[in-house]
Amino acid sequence: MAGVILRDVRKIYPSGFEAIKGIGLEVGDGQFCVLVGPSGCGKSTLLRMVAGLETISGGEIDIGGRIVNQIEPAERDIAMVFQNYALYPHMSVYNNMAYGLRNRGMAKPEIDTRVQEAARILEIGPMLDRKPGQLSGGQRQRVAMGRAIVRQPKVFLFDEPLSNLDAKLRIAMRVEIRKLQRRLNTTSIYVTHDQLEAMTLADILVVMNGGQVEQIGNPLEIYQKPATTFVASFIGAPPMNLLPVGSDEIRSQLAGVSGEAGLLGIRPEDFEISNDAIPGGIALKLSVEAIERVGAETFIYGARQQQGQGVAANPGELPPGEVIVRIPGVIAPAIGERIQATAPREKLHLFTSDGRKRIE
Ligand code: ATP
Repeated sequence: MAGVILRDVRKIYPSGFEAIKGIGLEVGDGQFCVLVGPSGCGKSTLLRMVAGLETISGGEIDIGGRIVNQIEPAERDIAMVFQNYALYPHMSVYNNMAYGLRNRGMAKPEIDTRVQEAARILEIGPMLDRKPGQLSGGQRQRVAMGRAIVRQPKVFLFDEPLSNLDAKLRIAMRVEIRKLQRRLNTTSIYVTHDQLEAMTLADILVVMNGGQVEQIGNPLEIYQKPATTFVASFIGAPPMNLLPVGSDEIRSQLAGVSGEAGLLGIRPEDFEISNDAIPGGIALKLSVEAIERVGAETFIYGARQQQGQGVAANPGELPPGEVIVRIPGVIAPAIGERIQATAPREKLHLFTSDGRKRIE
């Protein structure tokens, strides 16, 4: 078994900055865990602590049943794949992959078997004699992964491995990595700031913010039931619409909901354009400000029409915000047209005004 368990892990840099503020996490044997969050949230720091490249200021890291806090990186039985590939430019692809194994004193035939097998899996067999400079970015990324695979580690650690690739290749490599991990069944921790990459790769998704965990869980559960407005906005593109419950238009439709509810969340794709009444749900009157038609779907940017427009807004009430509606296919409202966007009760999310707590 080679799960990874983090218990109340903390990192305070010598500058005094607390980058990780007590994180607990359990990644089961063979699971793919993705750490996602905005720049500076501490995801690389946390990964580097698991790798042994950063000291641990507090708590415990357990890899395969062994506390590794005091154990050197080379002894942790992990392999890391970096964003910049970290290949040796003067060495052939073969030697880049074999290097770590030779250093460990492995016998030549065993090294050769492992390198050839990894090259076959990654389809880089014909490139084994080339130098990294003679490879494309995607091929270099494969070599970096090959170097991790040949070590047959207990755990793979990935630090934004796809961020230097163009959009198309990123998607292709994302699928490759997932297939590869399923096949090898090696416990993996993967860092990215790309929420789509995170959603598609993860068995367990960890959404981080400011050195803490905002939410941990199955990616679809997180998408469907974000615990905070931070998660609601970070996971999903375009992000969830968040509207103050305080306005008359919304408050009157949400009769009976807890008085604690301060923000109403609706995902853009959960709206329909309809003139029907929607008992228990929500209907928003919008004037169309912009339309994006991308073929498979249409995005409508609407401004809410508040009652009593032109009159000073109530103190404390947010100005009428923009609402994004996402409709499958091509539809044709015109700029300036007035439409009604509706969403049923079961698609509504309610949060406290500070966004820190989900109510339903
Ligand atoms: P990014 O996606 O931009 O790489 P990240 O989520 O991986 O961000 P980290 O690199 O882990 O973030 O950094 C977390 C925080 O710790 C940041 O605020 C960063 O400025 C700070 N930090 C990182 N390294 C050090 C250091 N050596 N000394 C002091 N502060 C540091």
